[in-house]
Amino acid sequence: MGRVYAMALPLSFEFFPPKTPEGALKLRAVRQQLYTRQPEFCSVTYGAGGSTQEGTFATVAEILAEGVPAAAHFSCIGATRAGVRAQLGQLQGMGVRRLVALRGDMPSGYGLGGEFQYASDLVAFIRAEFGSAFVIEVAAYPEVHPQARSPQADLQALLVKVRAGADSAITQYFFNTDAYFRFVDEAYALGIDIPIVPGIMPITNASQLLRFSDACGAEVPRWIRLRLLGFGDDTASIQAFGREVVGDLCEQLQQAGVPGLHFYTMNQSAPTLALCERLGL
Ligand code: FAD
Repeated sequence: MGRVYAMALPLSFEFFPPKTPEGALKLRAVRQQLYTRQPEFCSVTYGAGGSTQEGTFATVAEILAEGVPAAAHFSCIGATRAGVRAQLGQLQGMGVRRLVALRGDMPSGYGLGGEFQYASDLVAFIRAEFGSAFVIEVAAYPEVHPQARSPQADLQALLVKVRAGADSAITQYFFNTDAYFRFVDEAYALGIDIPIVPGIMPITNASQLLRFSDACGAEVPRWIRLRLLGFGDDTASIQAFGREVVGDLCEQLQQAGVPGLHFYTMNQSAPTLALCERLGL
């Protein structure tokens, strides 16, 4: 690791916009439980092509009203400059001061035709149009983005996002700390000079995790995959195993002096709280 961050470890929690009023109610309770860990911010994902825009903005507004800094994820694929300008203006007006700026993925069947090609285009646009009104987070991939031409090309893509004005990066989740440490070392060697915060995925649902990991290019090591499959429908054992494995991972990261931890909460409090508890956070 290139640098060590002492003091309290900044935490952030990621949610997705709930689809139903019951989901919204449940998420409010989940957030209150997670706020006890005093996160630096909570973020809300944004569906491909703006499909969840309303839900994302509404959830962000609720978090702000609860007195917690909120980050809106924002993806630019398929979007126009005028549309992005208007939506970012709306977020700014709501009091949002932090964005997770993404390219996003177009659902199959949608044409492209947008005015942004890469997340770096969005970062540059935000800086050109809004100056320093937003702290800009970007995505990083220790195990390499599935569409990258090569690991080096993917690191270069991160460098372009940093040069365009990104303040901080959050990684795709991983279960292999060596991939993260090597990635960070290589990034710093390239001159990438922003915090690269590991994204942490608690393990709660084996089939969902395995399906999702294949799609996003995160590797579930064979030994974890086989153990998970071996538990079948035994949710309690899956969760106990997950707490151990992800707890060990977080401990290694904490001891190495990572700049923060970003939890993919999956809109549940218990798995993330159990990890925070174990880490003394
Ligand atoms: P980019 O940084 O643009 O990279 C995309 C691909 O293009 C990479 O393979 C990169 O190597 C390549 N590339 C970049 N620049 C160049 C260039 N100049 N020339 C050639 N190749 C280039 N998705 C959502 O839909 N909603 C969300 O809310 C969301 N939140 C996320 C949060 C985090 C922390 C992470 C890690 C991912 C999230 N994603 C989300 C997923 C993300 O949208 C996808 O991984 C998407 O495929 C890539 O987005 P990006 O911003 O990393 O793209």
